Amino acid sequence: MTAVAEPAAVLPLIVIRGESAGPLFIVVAGVHGDEYEGPQAIWEVAQGLPPSSLHGTLLALPVCNPWAFAAGLRSTPDAMDGANLAREFPGALEGSPTQRLARALLEFVLKLKPGLFLDLHSGGTRYSFLPVVGYRGGLGNEDRSRAAARAFGLSALWEMADHRGTFNSETARKGITTVGVEMTGAGGCRREDVAANREGMLNLMRWLGMLRDHPAPEVLGPFRRTTDVLAPVSGFVVPHQAVGGRVEAGDSIARIHSSLFGEIVAEVKAPHAGEVWAMRHLRAIQQGEIITSIARPVGAETDR
Ligand SMILES: [Zn+2]
Repeated sequence: MTAVAEPAAVLPLIVIRGESAGPLFIVVAGVHGDEYEGPQAIWEVAQGLPPSSLHGTLLALPVCNPWAFAAGLRSTPDAMDGANLAREFPGALEGSPTQRLARALLEFVLKLKPGLFLDLHSGGTRYSFLPVVGYRGGLGNEDRSRAAARAFGLSALWEMADHRGTFNSETARKGITTVGVEMTGAGGCRREDVAANREGMLNLMRWLGMLRDHPAPEVLGPFRRTTDVLAPVSGFVVPHQAVGGRVEAGDSIARIHSSLFGEIVAEVKAPHAGEVWAMRHLRAIQQGEIITSIARPVGAETDR
């Protein structure tokens, strides 16, 4: 007899097995419990995908952290361990609840060896993010992951740095073709973002040969890297730039005001020219948290 680790996590698992043989495609969402575009898109795709049209198998986990999702929080509630699931991979068998969840999720995916792994995120309640699709630079099968990112259909392409603890860095590190997505978030779930996720999932199934209605797109635009700009002090954020807009080096991006009497306590400037890909949405910010992310094409790091 084996002991059952408490508390148990109840994870929804959706499997659509095509009538013809083909690859396995795994899609996950809800690693953060305040990001809704991924779960809704997965539910909608699953409801509308007839097995007769499918070559291979779609396996989806729409809510990877059910404790955070139930509480409407990014991370597991503090009463359990307060951990951010996307900082805990590869997890630990004897760890805290979130560490054990990370371990179980990663083992499950690695055992199945999918032909493609897709991790759906968004800005959640705290950020507004430009819809982007990307892969982890320097990890695993980069060429294949890059090609999959181009097939998703979003025009903004991201070469993400390795980020230990995230689900998609660990799958990429193990050689699984891996793509990640960010949608707007901003405390909501825009209909057009859900639609883009839905179409992106179908496009990746086309790229894999699982759907054969028409070819997947191939977005040619350059991949970009992002620079995170951190809040130098805690306070109340007033953004000066729109997500998706262009800035020059030194442009004002946001001001931080005192959260007591509103006086300006810091001005945040663009570290280099580029596109604003993420902006703090929640007005309250703590020192050291990301206030904005600025993107520029790979290879532009030496540009002034
Ligand atoms: Zn996320």
